[in-house]
Amino acid sequence: MAKLNENYQNLKESYLFSEIAHRVAKYTQENPDKKVIRLGIGDVTLPLESEVVDSMHKAVDEMGNASSFRGYGPEQGYDFLRNAIKDYYTRNGVSVELDEIFVSDGAKSDTGNITDLFSVDNVVLIPDPVYPVYVDTNTMNGRKIVYLDANAENGFLPLPDESVHADIIYICSPNNPTGAVYNKEQLKIWVDYALKNDAIILFDSAYEAFISDESLPRSIFAIEGAKQCAIEFCSLSKTAGFTGTRCGYTVVPKDLKVTASNGEVMYVNKMWNRRQTTKFNGVPYIVQRGAEAAFSKEGMEQAQKMIGYYKENAKIIADTLDKKNMKYFGGVNSPYIWFECPNNMDSWTFFDYLLTNAQVVGTPGAGFGTNGTNYFRLTSFGNKENTIEAMERFAKLF
Ligand SMILES: *Cc1c(COP(=O)(O)O)cnc(C)c1O
Repeated sequence: MAKLNENYQNLKESYLFSEIAHRVAKYTQENPDKKVIRLGIGDVTLPLESEVVDSMHKAVDEMGNASSFRGYGPEQGYDFLRNAIKDYYTRNGVSVELDEIFVSDGAKSDTGNITDLFSVDNVVLIPDPVYPVYVDTNTMNGRKIVYLDANAENGFLPLPDESVHADIIYICSPNNPTGAVYNKEQLKIWVDYALKNDAIILFDSAYEAFISDESLPRSIFAIEGAKQCAIEFCSLSKTAGFTGTRCGYTVVPKDLKVTASNGEVMYVNKMWNRRQTTKFNGVPYIVQRGAEAAFSKEGMEQAQKMIGYYKENAKIIADTLDKKNMKYFGGVNSPYIWFECPNNMDSWTFFDYLLTNAQVVGTPGAGFGTNGTNYFRLTSFGNKENTIEAMERFAKLF
């Protein structure tokens, strides 16, 4: 008889987005004349930029030509893209080597797949609230999770509790869902804690391109000592609208090593290379050419234009909350605005209230962890006209 990975029985039902869809569908059915505006999506809406599209068109033609056709590519990504990513890091003041960069089909899969390298015996530290993938992938492996409270008191930027030992630490900055961003001093505290505990930081920087405050770190490797204790996950999903195109990259420093129980020193970069070359066959050539174009000068300008558009929406949302004297987190170096639900409503009650009274859809904080129970996330990924209209309606309620 086939025996199961029974850790799957410990997964909580992931009903956040299906429940939202269900409630919105019910409301629209009962109120067909009402215009519902969605400020809940965690997905980009603007189309791919022309630099990326042109480059992918060219790549398609190459693939259709015997002289330029390509079959399997390197599992780690083509050098043209790894070089473009390396240069991107350099422009942001961080030096990484080519063979520290692994191109992938996205940060979601890599943040989940990285757990392959680590024993189930590790104590995993995960902030609450956060992107649910970290919790679910570790639950699938049966790893012990310790939650770290992110809340209004710590500005949703928790620092390590020196009395708690952790082996693996997830950090997402700029954060989904709170929009909060760690500064360099705070990240240094994390790096020092990791070095002291022989722990590894798994740093998700999917939203780094939204950082406009130049004093804020866009990479964990901007912090001294991080190359000895951190792995970074990034993606073109939010940087250049690749959520449906699929391309990410993970940086595993060559200095990162762990001593095995038999005393052998294992290099995490080599292990990840072995894992990827065994279980992954690379990102499509066409997509990698598109990603390369996104990192070019023109490509970056176009990407920054898209991000600028979303950030204008974020400002529209933030300005409304400011006017209403409602405190919020994020919204400046992030596409997300996170705030406490007014009038002591819990996040699902507020969801229904906002849908019924303003026909605006947001995301209940409860979907991201216990500390989100009374919080709400609005996103800037909608279009400008709708965002303005939604926030006008919102303003009338409070
Ligand atoms: C959107 C997002 C990602 C990106 O995932 P992809 O698989 O690259 O699309 C990664 N981490 C967080 C926290 C995100 O919100």
